[in-house]
This record gives sequence, C-alpha cells and structure tokens, in this order.
Amino acid sequence: TERILEVKNMKTSFHTHVGEVQAVRGVSFHLEKGEALGIVGESGSGKSVTSMSVMRLLQYPGIIKEGEVFFKGEDLVKKSKAEMMSVRGNQIAMIFQDPMTSLNPVYTIGNQIMEAVIRHQKVSKTEARERAIDMLKLVGIPSPETRVDNYPHEFSGGMRQRAMIAIALSCEPDLLIADEPTTALDVTIQAQILELLKDLRTKVNTSIILITHDLGVVADVCSRIVVMYGGLIMEEGRAEDIFYEPLHPYTMGLLKSIPRLDLGHKQRLVPIPGSPPDLIKPPKGCPFAARCPYAMKICLDHQPGYYERKPGHKAACWLHHQDAPTVELDTGVRR
Ligand code: SF4
Ligand code: MG
Repeated sequence: TERILEVKNMKTSFHTHVGEVQAVRGVSFHLEKGEALGIVGESGSGKSVTSMSVMRLLQYPGIIKEGEVFFKGEDLVKKSKAEMMSVRGNQIAMIFQDPMTSLNPVYTIGNQIMEAVIRHQKVSKTEARERAIDMLKLVGIPSPETRVDNYPHEFSGGMRQRAMIAIALSCEPDLLIADEPTTALDVTIQAQILELLKDLRTKVNTSIILITHDLGVVADVCSRIVVMYGGLIMEEGRAEDIFYEPLHPYTMGLLKSIPRLDLGHKQRLVPIPGSPPDLIKPPKGCPFAARCPYAMKICLDHQPGYYERKPGHKAACWLHHQDAPTVELDTGVRR
C-alpha cells in the first residue's frame, strides 16, 4: 500500500496573552491509501488542532512550531498559502460538526455542489448539475432530481450533513477529514452517516481521518485508532487492539464512557473524573497522571516513552515498562 499521509513530530501552539498554549506537543502518525484512521480524545486533547494543522487551517494565534506533514510525499508545512488552497480544494477535503455553518443559506444545495464541481472538474453547467444529482444519490438523498433544487433549510440535519459530504467529495479528494461529523445528529442519523462514510471508502477509495470524542463512533468505520490526550498520542493500534486489548488507562477510561445502546435508557456512562491538563504549563510527567487510577511516582516526574506491545500497537504508559510494578489492569485481560 501507499502511504498517503505521514505526520512527524508535529508541535502546534497558540500564543495567547496568558502564555503559550502547547495544544499539540509532538505527534506522529500515518495513514495508508484507502485507510480510515480514527483520532479520538476528549475536547482539549489536541485532536482538532492536529487536523487543522495538517490542513494548514490554523487561525491566529495558532502556529505550527515544529514537525512535518508529508502528504503524497510533499511536506505541507513548507507549502505557500496559494499552494495549500489548491491542495485543500483538490486533494484534501474536510467536513465539520455543524453543516449549517458551512452551507450557504441563500443558494440551493444543487448550486453549492455544482459550484464545487465546476471549480474542480472543468465541466459544463449541465454536466455539473448531473454530477450534483449523482453526488446526492451517492450520499443517499432520496429523490435527488427534485432535492437538488432545495435550499439548506428544506433539508433535515442528517440530510444537510450528507450534502456537506457530497460537496466535500465533489473535488474527488484523496483524503477526507471529518471532525465530529455526527456529534450534532441524533443516534439513528449518526449511524447512517457513519455507514455512509464506511461505504464511501470502498466506493470511492478515499482515505478518511475521523475525529471524535466518542470511541463508539470510530469502532465501525476505522481500522486503526489513535488516542490523544494532553496534546500527545497516548495509544495507537488497530481497532481490535484498542477495543479488546487496550494498554493505556486513558483508553480504558474512554471505553467505559461509551454509551451502551443495549442498556437502553438505563445506559451507564462512566465519565473519567477530573479535567484535562493545563497546556500553558503542561505536566512534566505523564499528562494523564492527575486522573489516572494507576499513577505512580515516576509518572509525575517523567513523561513515559512508547511501549510497543506488537508491531503497530503502542502506548505511552509507565505501567508497561519492564521495571513497572505488576498491577492487575481493569481490562478483563491479564497482562
Ligand atoms: Fe497512569 Fe502512569 Fe500510565 Fe500515565 S504513565 S497513564 S499516570 S500509569
Ligand atoms: Mg474539536
């Protein structure tokens, strides 16, 4: 397979009047062509800043301080603003949480897709309209021939998100970055949109990065998962590693906080107590130490390196160090 994206030791900060917020503190990961990668973490973990850095969409006072972002072999960090606009228009597309803020209320859905199609594919208006209808069909909008002339307010929330995906795909991107694309939607619609993303990967062979606070959301769509906390990657592995053999206590905490649909209304959500670290003065040791039930003295003083359980599955946690005290981790799996 071809490596489409490789992020190397990326550090991104926001220079504010109260100090430098070190939002991303040295993050490395990669994505193969046609692969779907989940980036999971609570708000403030650095997952959105990571994707905005990759897209070079950071707003002032955000700045990439260090690192490289190789996209199809070229470092995006070194590209000019104009070059980046062309990359974003043609090769990398992004969808966000709230489609209403990205759709223009005064143009029909069809016109907005057509505009994107014409911008990227140099086709006539008639062809672009046909493409728009095809795109609406692809993303599962019923009666696309009439829906194409609707305005955004005539679409439901789920249909608007589908329309956004259609616009994003109209440039035939190699990489689609979806940041909390289903968070604003109800559970049924959420499942449909995730199903659609999964579908598109096989139909269009687009590589996908799915960013979410909810591990449950990535379970079905992503083959690999990166778990972020405090601006760092805490654990990385194949989806089954993360779900069945998690190594990091933060990952275990996230797993417990997944809503259990099978428990219906009595679903038990166990949030991780405490709050994320102050990234103006990031902790010297493990960023999760203040909330970790297994924290040891070494955790407070030294940031753990990565322990690799097997190729492709690694975690930054002292518990897995060869000299760590043996503890029974609450995973259901014996170490
Ligand atoms: Fe917990 Fe220590 Fe592991 Fe951090 S390094 S997750 S504090 S055990
Ligand atoms: Mg976010």
